[in-house]
Amino acid sequence: MKFENELYLISKQYPDFNILLEKTEQALREGIYIFQYRSKEKNKDLLHNEAIKIKELCDKYNASLIINDRVDIAKEVGADGVHLGQDDTSIKEARDILGEDVIIGATAKTVEDAVRCYEEGADYLGVGALFPSPTKLDAVQIKLKTLIDIKNAVPIPIVGIGGITAENLSKEINENVDSIAVISEIYDSKNIKDAIKKLKDAFLKGRNTMNYTTQMDAARKGIITKEMEIVAKKENMDVNVLADKIAKGTVVIPANKNHKSIDPEGVGDGLRTKINVNLGISKDSYDIDRELEKVKVAIDMKAESIMDLSNYGKTEEFRKKLIDMSSAMIGTVPVYDALGFYDKELKDITEKEFLDVVEKHGKDGVDFVTIHAGINRETANTFRRNPRLMNLVSRGGSLMFAWMQLNKKENPFYEHYDELLDICAKYDITISLGDACRPGAIADSTDASQIKELIVLGELTKRAWAKNVQVIIEGPGHMAINEIEANMLLEKKLCHGAPFYVLGPLVTDIAPGYDHITGAIGGAVAAASGADFLCYVTPAEHLRLPSIDDMKEGIIATRIAAHAGDIGKKLPNSRAWDNSMSYARQQLDWNKMFELAMDPVKAKKYRESSKPEDENSCSMCGKMCAVRNLNKVLNGEDINILRD
Ligand code: SF4
Repeated sequence: MKFENELYLISKQYPDFNILLEKTEQALREGIYIFQYRSKEKNKDLLHNEAIKIKELCDKYNASLIINDRVDIAKEVGADGVHLGQDDTSIKEARDILGEDVIIGATAKTVEDAVRCYEEGADYLGVGALFPSPTKLDAVQIKLKTLIDIKNAVPIPIVGIGGITAENLSKEINENVDSIAVISEIYDSKNIKDAIKKLKDAFLKGRNTMNYTTQMDAARKGIITKEMEIVAKKENMDVNVLADKIAKGTVVIPANKNHKSIDPEGVGDGLRTKINVNLGISKDSYDIDRELEKVKVAIDMKAESIMDLSNYGKTEEFRKKLIDMSSAMIGTVPVYDALGFYDKELKDITEKEFLDVVEKHGKDGVDFVTIHAGINRETANTFRRNPRLMNLVSRGGSLMFAWMQLNKKENPFYEHYDELLDICAKYDITISLGDACRPGAIADSTDASQIKELIVLGELTKRAWAKNVQVIIEGPGHMAINEIEANMLLEKKLCHGAPFYVLGPLVTDIAPGYDHITGAIGGAVAAASGADFLCYVTPAEHLRLPSIDDMKEGIIATRIAAHAGDIGKKLPNSRAWDNSMSYARQQLDWNKMFELAMDPVKAKKYRESSKPEDENSCSMCGKMCAVRNLNKVLNGEDINILRD
């Protein structure tokens, strides 16, 4: 849990618990990451039940839950921490009950209190009251000097508490606390979103909130960022282990500093395989509202990433709306946008203009950009010497190749790579090194051009890491199934363990209309062999811009591939979902099966379309249902197949 620069929300007592739930959910949605549930007067059962509901809410928004005073309840509901007042259970007793991993906070009003609590093992201190408090009229106010002395006396985070408002915060307070605890200022506000923003602005003003450039820079400096905390919690991974992987470059968290609505995800070694959805406006299909509808569908269907591949007209309006509404990470291919942005033919766009488009995307909040820097002169010569059936099928790669050919110059992103990296570091844009030589036919895979480019991408990876820029490597493409495992190994070796993002791979070329299936087969094999990130493929691939139904088919197929890959990778708990489904099947618990299904709507629709004779079975085998009959026989019952 990270206190630095965060607001710490403490619950308010309401006669109706549902009001508290509703208001707290609004606050969590607006970026509160630490929530303390305080309700001393209630009996144990009631408190336990309420705490369970609060815990579910906090988990939904990746917020940490601290229970006030009640160590027993904190243990029962698996809270992240407990806060102890001066008259509550001792820190030592709480530690014995809760163990080392649970956060213990304590209240301190004097330097002596603070030192004692720290020595007894407190992880943070609540210090106050800093101002007269409307929710605790008997609270003793402390002097600013006491706060400063406490801050200087102990090395643990200090949470300022008591009557804090956006108006009474001062530079001295802001500099001597790591977080501020509030109640009324949020719960009594007419607009919770505005109240949180106002408090954050007042608190962060003048504080050094960004003493690192990128997530990689933070990890290398030993700083645990809020994004790392969230990802570690989602992946059930120790945050220090995660930070170590980020420092080494084997995991990335694409999270641009300007993408305020992001719910961060990690991509890479030891993490769940993530999926990306492509969308965006094109000349033949220019409908911003429909593409925004696709964004909602992608997020609802749990895609972790959306790539805006808009390639016509002024794409800025769409991109800004997309970033504003998307909790998923956003990727772009800036070179697509350059033509529309400058309204110029490709060959007339200058090197600086290409870089300026990347900067523009960074300013807008794009989390990762595909850059085809690996198709340099050397790679292009290898491609010319080694003819292919499908030449270059990467859109961005073919544009770069054409620009180089038409201008007789080196690839601008390769030539000015250091300037590009400086832009990426400034906004914390993850660079996704595109594969211009991605095979577009199984005949072209694992050939000289593809491998030559991969070697260049490995060199570019090291240069990016030297500037603390996070890197993803993009990969095939079309590829025979028996080549996939070797390609995953090659990428990890040649690109030093950087996360691998594969576009399929499509394991055969002959199934237009069904390429979500050819892509899912390849994606599952790739993920099981080490790929970290799968780009979805829809049934419309090679045929047209996908409709919303095409998207849905593509997302489900790719999620199945990613999950199958995670089982193949032997990720901890990756089989838990499957085991729950199998148990529901063994129990013939149809509602549970629908609840657990990857696509509950489709599963329910299929079952309802064909009613079985015996409602416990399905219309496939009726009373010959093996599950029903084994359950009965093993229970000592007759199975009555012919009779009712
Ligand atoms: S009827 Fe056949 S297919 Fe349907 S649940 Fe029973 S065993 Fe499975």
